[in-house]
Amino acid sequence: MVSSSPTSAPVRIVALGGLGEIGLNLMAIECAGRAIVIDCGVMFPDEPALGMGTYIPEMAWLERSHVAIEAVVLTHAHEDHIGALAHLLRRFNVPVYGTDITLAFVRRRLVEAEFDEAAELRTIVPRKIFEAGPFTVEPIRVTHSTPNSIALAIRTPAGIVVHSGDFKIDDAPVDGELFDRERFAELGVEGVAVLLSDSTNVERPGRSGSESSLKPILRELTSRARGPIFSVGIFLASASHPPSGRSLTRVWAPSGSARAPDGGKRAPRPGNGTASLFPSDVRRAVRGGVYRRQSA
Ligand SMILES: [Zn+2]
Repeated sequence: MVSSSPTSAPVRIVALGGLGEIGLNLMAIECAGRAIVIDCGVMFPDEPALGMGTYIPEMAWLERSHVAIEAVVLTHAHEDHIGALAHLLRRFNVPVYGTDITLAFVRRRLVEAEFDEAAELRTIVPRKIFEAGPFTVEPIRVTHSTPNSIALAIRTPAGIVVHSGDFKIDDAPVDGELFDRERFAELGVEGVAVLLSDSTNVERPGRSGSESSLKPILRELTSRARGPIFSVGIFLASASHPPSGRSLTRVWAPSGSARAPDGGKRAPRPGNGTASLFPSDVRRAVRGGVYRRQSA
């Protein structure tokens, strides 16, 4: 909770998932009965016996609180941040803000979830301020394992709330788009009331390697392959991850030997011999262990 000046309404930050766990990211920020939701993701179960099902966040508070949910803002395209969106939109069909790539994944997820209402998807870009519900929001570019990831600087009556989204500071990102240190520094000078920061394994000492450091490893592995190479992104949204696709293309193009299995809905890349699979294709590939369990 953010304390406010005596003349302004208090601002409440309500985490409904994603704290101390990997997955189920969903946070509401509310002021004077109006709120926005940041991210709406699923969690994949640890138990192997449970197969490929997913958990979704508990959303009862959003309904019980009688707060007006006015917008959803997405930080990036990973499943643990967008995968439960259809469930939320069925309750609150509000505008959804995200970068172009994030929304491209969202469109696919909504189709997969058989969400057949019209969803209002609004594209946002870093450093371009927009209004979402009662707040003014600025996206800030961060680097992560999926492209066009953003942090959010949310201007509230109680001050600036910075929500980092998932990030790792990668000085050699695959897409060449650098972490916007400058904007974070400027916000620091201006004054930030609350920083909400999320970076997996941040408590471990040392630095994470750059995503681009995987290139020589992939090149080495693929050079040893004698037959076709099948590429399956397992973690979250990575199955059709554009920069990874481009990286893999660069790695594999000399041999032109990368192939996707037949029969799935693919995102072919004409002329370079590679293709990406969507998570639904992966689920089809492991059919037999499919289950679904929902907590709300
Ligand atoms: Zn992520």
